[in-house]
Amino acid sequence: MTDEQKIYRKSAQAFAEAESFMPGGVNSPVRAFAEVGLGPLFIAAAKGSKIYDIDGNDYIDYVGSWGPMILGHAHPKVLKAISVAVQNGSSFGAPTLAETTLAKKIVAAFDSIEKIRLLSSGTEAVMTSIRLARAYTKRDLVIKMAGCYHGHSDSLLVAAGSGSAEFAKTHLAENSIASSPGVPDSLARLTIVIPYNDIDAAELAFQMHKGKIAALLVEPVAANMGVVPPINGYLKKLRKLCDQHDALLIFDEVITGFRLAAGGAQELFGVKADITCLGKIIGGSLPAAAFGARADIMDMLAPLGPVYQAGTLSGNPIATAAANATLDVLADSTCYKKLESTAAMLEIGLAEAAKQAGVPVTINRAGSIMSCFFTDRPVRNFTDVKSTDIKSFKKFFAEMLNQGIYLAPSAYEAMFVSLAHTKEDIEKTIEAAKRSFHKIK
Ligand code: PLP
Repeated sequence: MTDEQKIYRKSAQAFAEAESFMPGGVNSPVRAFAEVGLGPLFIAAAKGSKIYDIDGNDYIDYVGSWGPMILGHAHPKVLKAISVAVQNGSSFGAPTLAETTLAKKIVAAFDSIEKIRLLSSGTEAVMTSIRLARAYTKRDLVIKMAGCYHGHSDSLLVAAGSGSAEFAKTHLAENSIASSPGVPDSLARLTIVIPYNDIDAAELAFQMHKGKIAALLVEPVAANMGVVPPINGYLKKLRKLCDQHDALLIFDEVITGFRLAAGGAQELFGVKADITCLGKIIGGSLPAAAFGARADIMDMLAPLGPVYQAGTLSGNPIATAAANATLDVLADSTCYKKLESTAAMLEIGLAEAAKQAGVPVTINRAGSIMSCFFTDRPVRNFTDVKSTDIKSFKKFFAEMLNQGIYLAPSAYEAMFVSLAHTKEDIEKTIEAAKRSFHKIK
């Protein structure tokens, strides 16, 4: 590792050209690096724990395609499954044996799931779960938490409130929520935003909207405001509230499913959701997602029931092959022990490096996802996250990138550790962090 500045010339040129043809030059906003005030790297290839840009720089990757790459990039078993599958044709729009194989694996992993439906993105999984919950309960309102992200369906693009209990008390009555441009206020008003990790706010929301809440939707470990684990007993209390008010509890396990444990956060925290949304890992790096629940809920879906949902590429044979191969590798339970020990080593090393440099940080970690927040205070909700030192994060990001460590280009995203990260990778990362913390001080 050196202090020499890496050259990103080809990426800069590629970005300039891309900007002429695609809004912001990218196909998903956070990729643009706008939040860290830099231009994005254009990626040529990735293998194991490494990612390679078109300027010939290599990096230890902690983005992992935003979560799916739990086995590391280009895992041989996943590549083989994909190449075998593609020989037989890449889409049929008809049932295949591999879909049932995948469904069985998901049902076996989650106690709360009896049936699943496959689709192509996490956005669709959550969007349809809400439709299903509304049809099942015959109610319209949905509770979500500030700072949790559930994809970009209209109902869930509501501005996250301030996140404080006080906010909840003063605002829940009118349910005044700023909708994202393009989302009608009348629709946004059906979504109640409350602070994460605040059971009083959840209780209040149920009381104020008695008999009207269809579902409470939550990332059981929040990972889209950085990683914010649930405080002790929070998820169990949410479960109880939903039961008391006959509302469905929807766990968005798009990140945590097969990441924290095979059975996701539900297995880890011993709480069963009514509907579970999955994505990322279960696509084996290709576009696939799912949601699942008890049979009586799932059987409300077309063609059995009246709730409509469909998808041209749902259960796509190549994605399904990649998913089956990925879940087969993860079926070895030592995988989760390895992920835990690698991530713990990184957490301890980062904390020590920051301490030595005299930079206050709070590291939140759940299994192989973590965040290093620039603050000396605990981070338990979106208000806490927003009060962290984003300027220091930006400087840290740029220093780490220059030293070959590819972090998510946003203070609001998680670091993903994979099975491909070696002890040497972690040591290099910690060394780079030491230098970076010193530099930004
Ligand atoms: N839910 C969670 C928790 C997510 O993190 C994401 C994406 O990052 C989504 C849903 C949406 O998934 P997708 O990007 O596949 O539509």
